Amino acid sequence: ETSAIVAHELRNPLVSIGGFARTLVRSLKEDDPNREFARIISDEVSRMERIIHDLLDFIRPRKQMRKALHMDDLVREVAKGYALEVEKNGIELRLDLQVGGTVVNAHPGEIQQVLQNFLMNAIQVMPSGGVLEIVSRVIEGGVKVGVRDSGPGFAEEESENLFSPFFSTKPTGSGLGLTICSQIIKSHGGVCGAENRAEGGAEFHFILPLPK
Ligand code: ADP
Repeated sequence: ETSAIVAHELRNPLVSIGGFARTLVRSLKEDDPNREFARIISDEVSRMERIIHDLLDFIRPRKQMRKALHMDDLVREVAKGYALEVEKNGIELRLDLQVGGTVVNAHPGEIQQVLQNFLMNAIQVMPSGGVLEIVSRVIEGGVKVGVRDSGPGFAEEESENLFSPFFSTKPTGSGLGLTICSQIIKSHGGVCGAENRAEGGAEFHFILPLPK
């Protein structure tokens, strides 16, 4: 609760600081050394805004409104929302969905959020294009969905920290995206995981249990 209040209270002053810093950048001449300082303020404020946004998301109480969910339908729907973004980045999106009629008991909005986080991360690691594949399968006791990219993968020593709060290798990352994913999936009784793929790139997946 305290984090929520602090994060919330910090938002308004940050909007002012960021707004004024951006105005300063625009009003200073290219060769003015202060322009670079104003740009740094503006960039750092954007980073703080992102951290606060993710933090508020992380501590948001999650409503437990679960229903019988057809995973492949949800994946198709989420993937549709990324069609433009993917195309713009020269990424080929492939869907290999084989869950069929098997349902899981889950909150569609939350699972959508997990998929979106995986997809955004995958798109970010392929700035010059690549292949993005979403694979769904029924496995023993659960439904598994994996998001595969053809990016650089992650360093082995990072693998333990990927889902930890505030772990990020990105200059402007909050490191909360995967933590939120893991929190959502765990609250459904499932697990998240990640591995580098033999053929290059990474796979981030989640497994949701089948209803008892
Ligand atoms: P953020 O996106 O703010 O960094 P995340 O929790 O979503 O936070 O991701 C944490 C870290 O996990 C990233 O900074 C990156 O190092 C690593 N990561 C996430 N997705 C991928 C991916 N598809 N390939 C390689 N590394 C990844």
